Amino acid sequence: MAPRLRLVEIPGTSARSVFLMRRRSLLAVFLLTPLIALFASCVRGFVESDVQDRGPRVAAQTLADRLDLEGSTDPISRVETLSNDHNLVVFCPGMASLRINDDVFDLPGPIIASSRGTLLPAAAEGLIRSRLRTPPPPEPKKQTPTRRPKQPSRNDWLRQRAPALPPNWNVAANRRWTSIVIHHSATERGGARLFDKMHREQNGWKYGLGYHFVIGNGTDTGDGRIEVGSRWTRQNEGIHGAHAGTDQYNQHGIGICLVGNFEEDRPTPTQMAALLKLVRRLSDRYKISPSAIYEHHEVRPEHTDCPGRFFPYRKFLTAVRRPR
Ligand SMILES: [Zn+2]
Repeated sequence: MAPRLRLVEIPGTSARSVFLMRRRSLLAVFLLTPLIALFASCVRGFVESDVQDRGPRVAAQTLADRLDLEGSTDPISRVETLSNDHNLVVFCPGMASLRINDDVFDLPGPIIASSRGTLLPAAAEGLIRSRLRTPPPPEPKKQTPTRRPKQPSRNDWLRQRAPALPPNWNVAANRRWTSIVIHHSATERGGARLFDKMHREQNGWKYGLGYHFVIGNGTDTGDGRIEVGSRWTRQNEGIHGAHAGTDQYNQHGIGICLVGNFEEDRPTPTQMAALLKLVRRLSDRYKISPSAIYEHHEVRPEHTDCPGRFFPYRKFLTAVRRPR
């Protein structure tokens, strides 16, 4: 059997009582709203008067400008930061403290949000300024000796390591060598092969290259490379040098030519080192005195400026004379 439904009136839900309840609610809203507004304005006034009472304020943006810091605000948390590479200042409206790097400091009043942006008690400026870290000074350069390989200057050839001499420099000569004559090629480039060709074709010399030795400058042959001419290796066949312009120095003077024009440039350091090594060995081997080491123009004064004004003759002779 189906249960019989029974209408029961819940107190206060009759049409009349609902009407009375709504009227009371509306009345309450009408009465309470001005009261709430009044209360809120009182509280606001209290807070603002509290702010005014606690002294001057400074805007966060002003602080950032004065302290040369970058300001930013997290849009959700409203947490604000002022920072640079070495510092971080963190604060938030409503608080009466802030964090400067790793420490928290109390402020003499609260931080507030206003139409001028976030305002901090003015004392915050001095506090932050006194706590900012300055960038560390640059690390002093260590005074350890540098191992950078020194590039010798053109005058520094005395410390330059000389290349090895070619084995055929050492000839058991059947003639007496009494002097060494130093030349430049008066050309920017060249080598024994080129000068041999020139001496054959331009000078018409049957035995070609007139010098006994040629020392390269890194153009056609290696820098400081010593080439031995056939007039040296074939000297015992009665073939003389053809470099000095006089019989005496062609037949008894060893002709050494450095590639380059030393009227305009200097020999390379390696060329000079090679020359020094070669001249010392020849002097020792054939008993030639340093006083018999000549520049070409010394044996042919009217005919040539060879080996040029930039050839360091005095320094070279001093080095040859130095005890070894
Ligand atoms: Zn010469």
